Amino acid sequence: MILRDIGEFGLIAKIRNWMGKSHPDVVQGIGDDVAVVEMGKKALLITTDILIEDIHFERSWIDPYRLGKKALAVNLSDIAAMGGIPKYFLISLGLPKTLPFSFVSLFYRGLKERARRFQVDLIGGDTSLSQKIIINICLIGEGKKGNLLFRNGARVGDDLYVSGTLGDAALGLKILQDKSTPKKPKGLIDKHLSPNPRIELGQALGRKKIASAMIDVSDGLLIDTRHILEESNVGARIWEDRIPLSSPFRKWVSPYSKDPYRIALSGGEDYELLFTASPKRKASILSLARSLNIPITRVGEILPEKEGFHLIGKEGEKIPSYRLGFDHFK
Ligand code: ADP
Ligand code: MG
Repeated sequence: MILRDIGEFGLIAKIRNWMGKSHPDVVQGIGDDVAVVEMGKKALLITTDILIEDIHFERSWIDPYRLGKKALAVNLSDIAAMGGIPKYFLISLGLPKTLPFSFVSLFYRGLKERARRFQVDLIGGDTSLSQKIIINICLIGEGKKGNLLFRNGARVGDDLYVSGTLGDAALGLKILQDKSTPKKPKGLIDKHLSPNPRIELGQALGRKKIASAMIDVSDGLLIDTRHILEESNVGARIWEDRIPLSSPFRKWVSPYSKDPYRIALSGGEDYELLFTASPKRKASILSLARSLNIPITRVGEILPEKEGFHLIGKEGEKIPSYRLGFDHFK
């Protein structure tokens, strides 16, 4: 067996089985957006993400300033998905010896911009020689135990909501890679290169006890919904034509996909929040969306586990969910 056969998520499931846990204060180990460790009334939140040159980014697409911003943003998004408060981070870098010094200084300028905006402090890291650029951040945050939102809290009858619009980042990436489109639409490219973590929204959903489960959309709506369903032992339906699409997305999508919803369902890196909430919370969600000026759309509902996971197409037809989205080894 090679890794392609087992896939990224299959491999993580194996690792979860191999290792187990011993400290009773580990509230959440492998299996959520961040690890959660109990610290008295508070909880310590810990998450890590890696960016590798020519896998996650190419130097010809992204400038070092935006790369620095993005490296921190993708970690902030995981803390947002818990409803947590980000606080400190460590960064480990693998760098080629021929890399211009200015690349590193601009990269840190980008990091500092996000660090100031979200009030997080760099507290350490590691530096090594490498063939390609490798960036690993470990972000530490905190939260009140009762306010945190896990992937496993979805209940039958809950509604499924998503913030913002979906598919823009994936379409932005396709356009960046397309040499035949010299004039690139800035909005879509920015969604890919400069994701905006939904920290305030995540905290409000937790603090106001609005949501029951939450994840950030990093691998695509289908895969990330599936993560909630698997951890909560429930099923779901998503109405395809309710998936929120931006107007630049609608304008630019046709040369890249016959079916616009396919990119919106399976494209990754939106870094929007996907959450479930009881139908009783509908009015609070509307008013939160208004006060934060962030669109929040009801895209589906939670079903009993035996109903599985499916989409409802435009004609009302039932489409079983197929495993698309992003898996690193497939
Ligand atoms: P996210 O997309 O939110 O960053 P991932 O899909 O990367 O989440 O990871 C899912 C879970 O698996 C997380 O709890 C993460 O900490 C854990 N995980 C990922 N890779 C490994 C690994 N190599 N060893 C142990 N745990 C891992
Ligand atoms: Mg996540």
